[in-house]
Amino acid sequence: MTIQAARIASQSPATDEILRTFEAHTPQQVDEALDQAQDAFVAWRARSFAERAVPMRRLAALLRERVEPYAKLMTLEMGKPIVEARAEIEKCAWNCEYYAENASRFLADEPVETNARKSYVAYQPLGIVLAVMPWNYPFWQVIRFAAPALMAGNAAVLKHASNVPQCALAVEEAIRDAGFPEGLFRTLLLAGGAVEPVIADERVRAVTLTGSSATGAQIAQAAGRALKKCVLELGGSDPYIVLADADVAAAATTGVRARNQNTGQSCIAAKRFLVAREVAPDFERRFVAGVEALRIGDPLDPLTQMGPLARVDLRDNLERQVRESISMGARLVTGGRRWGDRGAFYRPTVLAGVTPEMPVFAEETFGPVAAITPVRDADEAIALANSSEYGLGANLWTRDVARAEALARRIDSGQVFINGMVASDPRLPFGGTKHSGYGRELSSFGIREFTNIKTVWIGPAIA
Ligand code: NAP
Repeated sequence: MTIQAARIASQSPATDEILRTFEAHTPQQVDEALDQAQDAFVAWRARSFAERAVPMRRLAALLRERVEPYAKLMTLEMGKPIVEARAEIEKCAWNCEYYAENASRFLADEPVETNARKSYVAYQPLGIVLAVMPWNYPFWQVIRFAAPALMAGNAAVLKHASNVPQCALAVEEAIRDAGFPEGLFRTLLLAGGAVEPVIADERVRAVTLTGSSATGAQIAQAAGRALKKCVLELGGSDPYIVLADADVAAAATTGVRARNQNTGQSCIAAKRFLVAREVAPDFERRFVAGVEALRIGDPLDPLTQMGPLARVDLRDNLERQVRESISMGARLVTGGRRWGDRGAFYRPTVLAGVTPEMPVFAEETFGPVAAITPVRDADEAIALANSSEYGLGANLWTRDVARAEALARRIDSGQVFINGMVASDPRLPFGGTKHSGYGRELSSFGIREFTNIKTVWIGPAIA
């Protein structure tokens, strides 16, 4: 296995301070981790769901006990406001409990009537699953995948984003301390470009990526060459449609959160606001007031609602998208500038009069920049919503719920939220269409992704 050497740095995006650096794992260390995970898998797969649920419940409890240190680590490494970081740990605990409780039901044998004496479908683990994860929800992205994968009887290795190595090691620590077999879940400290040999390794049976569409294409190619199953949770540019009969005040208040939560760095953030012309001025006024009221500052301060972006290069790209869109005719309503004299801060920004060829519409904006486009009617809103290369989530606001349900079927996305904002929930499948990826996480669909769906057929009794 050839893996290029690299140093991995944890750097505060609020202060620019280098917090810690790590040596990337060597090929020998990766090899040992895979051997250990494989050994642990052989024993783990034979355990019952009830046995697997014991450390999974303990993990939920441990995450709650350690909410302060773990939340602080996320805030330090990637700048998430501390209140949101605490909520993220709580959601992870919920997900662990959810799969501890429900895995046996989701993966129970399913009888199927055929001409056999008995035939059924069994869901069995695959082996080691490699997870390549992003930095935006450093704990949630990992636990969202790991809780179902481990409950299904798999082992896992994690290659986390290079800017959150401390979080990556903390997740491994929590899983180990919860009492899972030694080596069943391992963090590999590797740079993005170093993942391909791990995908190709025979011990790794499947791959899951949450990340950008460009990385998705690379991982899918590598998985395809190695003939391995892969799940891709990629980028999004979710539409936020506000029809003329919507509750505009509620749509604006929720829209502020839907765009700016996690400092706008969410795949399912509302990014393109498609607002009926009749209500556009009212919506814009309310929305902008909400955006301007957001408190930006030190992410460790519990009153802060917006921290820095996770890295300076991400802030620079957002700045470019805004600058180019303004030069193409977008109207800057608020923001559009950096904040403070250090770190990767960027003021929450609203652009109005946005048209589809502008970067803030045509590309994914991964930060607090809202693009407002006025629309004639629902048909134009849906046509614009579907004009994106992405198809992750969609938000739709109208008082006519029956019409909304009919419109929801016409939107090309993995989820549509009516009179609310798109959010992940362990009980509901999560994923996208088009360049937002394929496969599903969470719910019964997510846990079945990394199983061998096995048919068992028993013929008539032999005389
Ligand atoms: P990214 O650059 O694609 O990175 C994601 C992960 O992929 C990181 O661990 C990264 O490692 C790794 N990586 C990068 N290049 C790679 C390569 N050539 N081969 C293998 N691995 C590689 O994404 P990001 O900019 O950090 O994250 C934001 C993106 O993720 C956005 O597009 C967002 O919408 C998407 N996202 C999607 C979901 C979802 O559920 N659909 C959720 C959250 C985020 P390094 O850090 O070492 O480069």
